[in-house]
Amino acid sequence: MNINNIFQKIIKKKIPSEIVYQNKKITAFKDISPKAPIHILIVPNKFIKNLNYINKKNICILSEMLYTSIKIAKKKKIHKSGYRIIINCNKNGCQKIPYLHIHLIGGKKLNNF
Ligand code: 5GP
Repeated sequence: MNINNIFQKIIKKKIPSEIVYQNKKITAFKDISPKAPIHILIVPNKFIKNLNYINKKNICILSEMLYTSIKIAKKKKIHKSGYRIIINCNKNGCQKIPYLHIHLIGGKKLNNF
């Protein structure tokens, strides 16, 4: 499968995934290869390649994504024990899927870095 449009297909429900939240702007779904008991990806429904494509016009989507992540952390009851939010960007940031996404990771004690 072309990795460039995997997340677009998930958003449009053209390939299976476990969607945990969706509204007009945002989709959140379980990571296929979880690094912790809770590992959810939060993406904008409208394609943005990565953080470098955030500008004055679309900056609001980042706060929507972040707010959705926090709401999901509370819903999954990991907000008190704690969690980590990561956005990888490009090669050195280990971004493998070229579609802006937040990783929400928790449910266990994470390693320091
Ligand atoms: P990145 O390394 O780009 O920051 O993160 C991409 C994430 O997407 C990885 O954690 C990977 O496991 C996840 N992923 C890749 N392909 C799929 C897929 O088809 N479905 C789901 N749910 N997650 C995927």
